[in-house]
Amino acid sequence: MTGTPRIVVLAGGVGGSRFVLGVRGALRARGIHNTAAALTVVVNTGDDIWLSGVRLQPDVDSITYALAGVNDAERGWGRQGDTERVNHELQEWGAGWPWFTLGDLDLGTHLARTGWLREGLTPTDVLERMSHRWDLGARLLPMTDSEVDTVVVLDDGARLHFQEWWTRHRATLAPERFENPGIEAAAAAPGVAEAIAAADVVLLAPSNPVVSIGPILAVPGVREALRATRAPVVGVSPIIGGKVVRGMADVCLTAIGVETSATAVAGLYGARGNGGLLDAWLLAEEDEAVAHEVAGLGIRPLVRPLWMTDAARQTALGEAALAAAGV
Ligand code: GDP
Ligand code: CA
Repeated sequence: MTGTPRIVVLAGGVGGSRFVLGVRGALRARGIHNTAAALTVVVNTGDDIWLSGVRLQPDVDSITYALAGVNDAERGWGRQGDTERVNHELQEWGAGWPWFTLGDLDLGTHLARTGWLREGLTPTDVLERMSHRWDLGARLLPMTDSEVDTVVVLDDGARLHFQEWWTRHRATLAPERFENPGIEAAAAAPGVAEAIAAADVVLLAPSNPVVSIGPILAVPGVREALRATRAPVVGVSPIIGGKVVRGMADVCLTAIGVETSATAVAGLYGARGNGGLLDAWLLAEEDEAVAHEVAGLGIRPLVRPLWMTDAARQTALGEAALAAAGV
C-alpha cells in the first residue's frame, strides 16, 4: 500500500515491547519518520497494582521504557542503571512487599502517575501525558481506564494478585483460573475501538496469551471491534519450537487447558472465519511441521524467524507481520 499505514498492536510487557520496537523499526526502515501517526499500541493493564500507595503499571512501563530506550534490557524490567535506595527504606519500614523490588527511577514514574490519577486524570490521560517526555514513536493506549487487576484463583479457592503469584511464587502454585474482577462492566479506553476500526492492520504481539492478551480481549467491545474491522488481524506466536521463550506463560496456558504449542495458541485466538480473531498466524521456523494444523483451523500460517533477540531480528519480524497483512 502507499502512504502511512495505520497499525494497531495489542501487547503485554517484555514480548510486547520487543515486538513494538520491531514494528517501529520496520516503519522507519520504510522511510516513515512520524511513526507515532502510524502506530497505536493497546497495552495490557491486568498486571497493574497498588503498592505502598502508588499505582504500578508494569506492562505500560515496559513498553514506554523500551520505546524510550531507557529500559534495562538485560534484566527485562525497569530502568537502566536504576538503584534501590527507596526500596531498601520501604523494607526497613516493613512496607510494600519484600519480594517486589521498586527501583528509584521507576518509583519516580509511579509517583508522577499516582499524583495525576489523584488529581482526577484518567489512566488514558496519564499515559498520554507520560508519552511526551520521550520520543516514543508510537501512541500508547491502556486497554481500559477501569482497574481490573488480574487475580489468580488457586485450587483451594485462595485468591492472589497476579503480581504476587508471578513474582513471589514464580508461578509455582497451580492456578485454577485467572479473573479480572469488574471487567464485564469496564469499557475499552477512549480511542481503542476507534483505532481498531480505522486500522489497516491489527497485530497480536507474541505476548502471554492468557495474562497479557487475554485481559485485553476480555474488555467488552474489544473482541467485537476486532471481529468487525476491515483490517486483517495477524498474530505472532509466543511459542517457539513448542516452548515459551522466556517466562512462565506455559503455566498460564496449562491452567486454562491449552497446550503449549503454536497451533494451540492460534486455536485459542481462533479463526476469524469461524467466530475467532485471526486471519493469519506467524509461526516459527522451528514449528514448520505444524503449519498445516494452523491451516486446518482456517488460519493462514506463515513460517518466519520469530526470535527477537536483537534490533535487526525485531525489525525483520515487524516487517514480516506488516507484509503478512499486505501492508
Ligand atoms: P510480560 O508482560 O513481560 O510477561 O511480557 P509479554 O506478555 O508481552 O510477553 C511474554 C511472552 O513473550 C512469553 O510468553 C514469550 O514466549 C514471548 N517472547 C519473549 N521473547 C520472544 C521472542 O524473541 N520471540 C517470540 N516469538 N516470543 C517471545
Ligand atoms: Ca505483563
